[in-house]
Amino acid sequence: MDPFNVMKSVPAAAPVTSRARPEQLKMNQADFEQQLSQAALGRARPADGPHVVLAQREAATGMESQLSDEKLVVVSNRVSTFDPSKPKTGGLAAALEPVVERSGAVWTGSSGTLSEGSERLNDLKRHGTGQVAKIDLPAAHYDSFYYGFANSTLWPAFHSLTERMSPSEEAHYKSYREINCSMARALSRLKNRGAIWVHDYHFLPLGDELRELSIQQPIGFFLHTPWPRPDVMEKVPHHHELMESMLAYDLVGFQTRSDLDNFLCCLQAHLGLESKSDAVISARGLTRCQTFPIGIDPKQFVDYAVQSLATHRQEISSMQDKLDGTKLAIGVDRLDYTKGIDNRIKALDQVLADKPHSISLLQIGTPSRGDIPAYSEYQSDIDSLVSDVNRKHGTDQGWKPVLYEKGHVSQMQLAGLYRTAEVGLVTPLRDGMNLVAKEYVAAQDPNDPGVLILSKFAGAAEDLNGNEALHVDPASPDDIATAISTATEMPREERIERWRPMMDKLEAYTIHDWSKDFLRELGHSRVAVPADQFRYLGFGWLNEAEMPSYETPEELNGAVKHVQDTRWVLPS
Ligand code: UDP
Repeated sequence: MDPFNVMKSVPAAAPVTSRARPEQLKMNQADFEQQLSQAALGRARPADGPHVVLAQREAATGMESQLSDEKLVVVSNRVSTFDPSKPKTGGLAAALEPVVERSGAVWTGSSGTLSEGSERLNDLKRHGTGQVAKIDLPAAHYDSFYYGFANSTLWPAFHSLTERMSPSEEAHYKSYREINCSMARALSRLKNRGAIWVHDYHFLPLGDELRELSIQQPIGFFLHTPWPRPDVMEKVPHHHELMESMLAYDLVGFQTRSDLDNFLCCLQAHLGLESKSDAVISARGLTRCQTFPIGIDPKQFVDYAVQSLATHRQEISSMQDKLDGTKLAIGVDRLDYTKGIDNRIKALDQVLADKPHSISLLQIGTPSRGDIPAYSEYQSDIDSLVSDVNRKHGTDQGWKPVLYEKGHVSQMQLAGLYRTAEVGLVTPLRDGMNLVAKEYVAAQDPNDPGVLILSKFAGAAEDLNGNEALHVDPASPDDIATAISTATEMPREERIERWRPMMDKLEAYTIHDWSKDFLRELGHSRVAVPADQFRYLGFGWLNEAEMPSYETPEELNGAVKHVQDTRWVLPS
């Protein structure tokens, strides 16, 4: 049996395909309502947290993931190194590596080598039970796609930093679409696809391109960044077309409820599409939207922290020597203007002005997108701020308050450093989730944990909801400075009381739950909707005149003809 054939595997949804028998197209109103509400399961994340939703989803469906992740195809712009001794290039790589290694999935992404003509699919390489298929993407379009539209338009817009958006260039958008087309063509050459899971803002229209190539397997999309409000989205060139193309996905996943709400508001404001129970019906079919807050493997970070303190004892103690008896705060970020590193250093300046020689900051800054002027300028701003603070507050004996390490560190080394630091400083202006925040919590000593200072605009703040972390306004150095002082003075009992519930949440919804949850929901995403039942939906079209006319099930031939452009009845 093909484990990905969701038409066979979702018991509650009567299969409707082009090969469906007439009686399969009939569904009574009650069944139809039940399917819709099943599609809606788990939409709103209750205050209980994602683990409760996960349990509810499992209980409601009474089954483990129907969509086995064998033969899953995962797509992202970059593919991870799969080397535990090497650092991760970012949250996406850190998150997907264990998914691919354990699931037997094929992970496709750019090889980093560009092709002169069209795209080229390289040989598959094995990693754990999974495989990697790297693709040489066309040189003619890659830079405009990557540096242009993806990282100078979508990235700042999705982080609601419109002032960072480059002036729109039509050629960038054209290249963005071309690369999506190339990726779709490369994927269409992969055999035995069971389902396709597309990742991140580089590939918003990939699902649409895949459908154009008659790929009919379930296709899901997960956005690692935030999704902005309609007034911000309006500033993205071709936002109508992009959002419309996203309706080709069966399932669209977001990090937080706010992102999901923003997306639904954008569909309403810009496409006039109403949603019901977080599902949208358009001429392209049914698209379900859900939150899947990305997690980590907390047990791995506990193990890493313990091992790291043993393995890297010397490096850690030589770093501690440099602290000169001060407390330690840690920041670990890509050198990206969304990360708020500048305000964090300004906050440290204030703390030290108030209490000289009280705290040091170990700032690990991993180089990122340095070819984009906004990034190189930001990186030199950070260099100047670090020099200023060190000059102003350093001592004649050689103590410098900011230990600035530009480069990459392995996750095991990071875990030891997280555990050594009394304060974790995570202050992005806006962030999809921020895995560093979660890793910092996981690596702490349960009997003497550090304190997490967390931007209220990081997805992690919504996900670890509660008052356990010290939430700050990342735009306010004053606010961050106050939190640093509170953290350094916090008694051990209070630190333990704050840490435990955060750790419980991390353990209750790990990175493995995240992928399992997404794939389960992707498996349930095809609700079979018989032609005559569209009228009951009451949404998707503004009025009766705009609604496509479907025939009644009795007139079967007509119905099949009319619903041909909805994907759950496409001929295979
Ligand atoms: N990371 C790493 N080595 C480094 C810096 C970061 O392995 O030197 C990893 C870190 O452990 C985390 C990821 O990179 O898993 C960063 O993810 P996050 O969500 O915090 O930020 P992103 O870079 O995705 O915006």
